[in-house]
Amino acid sequence: MRPLHFDNAFVRELPADPEQGNHPRQVLSALYSPVAPTPVAAPCIVAWSDEVARILGLDATDMRDPAWASVLGGNALLEGMQPYAANYGGHQFGTWADQLGDGRAMSLGEVINAQGQRWEMQLKGAGRTPYSRGADGRAVLRSSIREFLCSEAMHHLGVPTTRALSLVVTGDSVVRDMFYDGHPQAEPGAIVCRVAPSFIRFGNLELPAARGDLGLLKQLVDFTIARDFSWLQGQGEALYAAWFAEVCERTALMVAHWMRVGFVHGVMNTDNMSILGLTIDYGPYGWIDNFDPEWTPNTTDAGRRRYRFGQQPNVAWWNLSRLAMALAPLFRGVEPLQAGLDRYAAVYAATDRAHIAAKLGLAECRDDDVNLMRDLHALLVAGNVDMTLFFRALADVDIAEPSLQPLHDAFYSQTERDSVAPAMLAWLQRYAARVAEDGATPEQRRRVMHAANPRYVLRNYLAQEAIDRASQGDYAGIAELLDVMRRPYDDQPGRERFAQKRPEWAVHKAGCSMLSCSS
Ligand code: AMP
Ligand code: MG
Repeated sequence: MRPLHFDNAFVRELPADPEQGNHPRQVLSALYSPVAPTPVAAPCIVAWSDEVARILGLDATDMRDPAWASVLGGNALLEGMQPYAANYGGHQFGTWADQLGDGRAMSLGEVINAQGQRWEMQLKGAGRTPYSRGADGRAVLRSSIREFLCSEAMHHLGVPTTRALSLVVTGDSVVRDMFYDGHPQAEPGAIVCRVAPSFIRFGNLELPAARGDLGLLKQLVDFTIARDFSWLQGQGEALYAAWFAEVCERTALMVAHWMRVGFVHGVMNTDNMSILGLTIDYGPYGWIDNFDPEWTPNTTDAGRRRYRFGQQPNVAWWNLSRLAMALAPLFRGVEPLQAGLDRYAAVYAATDRAHIAAKLGLAECRDDDVNLMRDLHALLVAGNVDMTLFFRALADVDIAEPSLQPLHDAFYSQTERDSVAPAMLAWLQRYAARVAEDGATPEQRRRVMHAANPRYVLRNYLAQEAIDRASQGDYAGIAELLDVMRRPYDDQPGRERFAQKRPEWAVHKAGCSMLSCSS
């Protein structure tokens, strides 16, 4: 087997839980617990990402090697791997939940690749850890397919995200009550190998702060600055302030991209917020079909809709303010933390404006264009319009003679289309006048719009179709979908069926419009 070079800074430099074994416990004064994956019956790699393999210095031959299936299924360790589960807490649905930790994720080690980059490998679903509480530490195939595909789809869309190397089916079954309604069923088990420069979450810092363990908090802050933000200069409070501002800035960029492409995370708890501003923990996430800021895919959140699409920029701010509270003991006053939060608002607003310009094909976003977009959003809601199809087709509207014709296919019903048509036409005329002022050639406008408005997104029903096929033992749909999502901004002749609006059958089907945290 091809050796990888590991440099396991996290376990080398930070305090470990001295207690052995996977029994559930509170882990004090330590940032992680050494663990070992629990072996599975028959690990088999059923999908992998060529791009992530390449980052690690691996290729298709490695991914077809049963020895690699053993490693990625948790049955064997490579020389240099030191598996651990991280200790973290989090605010879940607005409430402090205290210790959570990696209940089923296990980092294997930090690879230094040929380019000198650090990439941590982490298995999700590899068995129990001290943080599993009453749960089994496993993951089911359906949620693993969703995490595998969406990590890579998001990357190709230009959204900051953790990556996914592989999807392994374990040969074991896992029992889940998918809708928590008293119908537990055995489902196929699976393990995804996630890859990211760092898996540190807001919650890793919140937990020592909540316990008043300021030594441990400072140790982890110093560590993540040195390892994950090595380009930051300065020392002491000034360095901490620069670092927090950077976390805020990265979080703003991430959420602005979610809003651009119509991604709803679904569980934006602070334990699911990456310190590097990467989208992490793909659970009951979903993609906007008909544009609706009120929509959430997460059935667990259906009542309050805390994590609905339109709320995500505010929730990210709230989460950053929880992080700021945790970091407060490192500062003499709150001003630097307030400055970081202000930075979030400023970067979010600026990035959102850049996205408005790009989505509308304008060279710049003027104040009035923000209103233009806001008015469009209201029309998209009123007209029950598909977000992805609409913005893609908007590039085809002839600004010399604006009409609804190129946009017809984006509407979910003719009645709603008819009712909104006069207002939409008036909006198109306003838009056409604005584009004419902008002076870009039709070709330039089209290019800018096509680079900001994807043709292909991982619609919930597309992922579900791949899941349904995989449940019958046919995994080809996963690779096929991944391949489509590799070039989301390109028209791909012959692949029109992946660029269609949600079909009627998917409106109420589980997995397509509603998902639970059960995974
Ligand atoms: P999530 O909602 O997936 O972000 O998970 C919240 C917490 O529950 C984290 O600490 C997870 O590690 C833990 N968790 C979720 N599912 C399982 C499972 N099947 N076994 C053990 N821990 C789990
Ligand atoms: Mg999580």
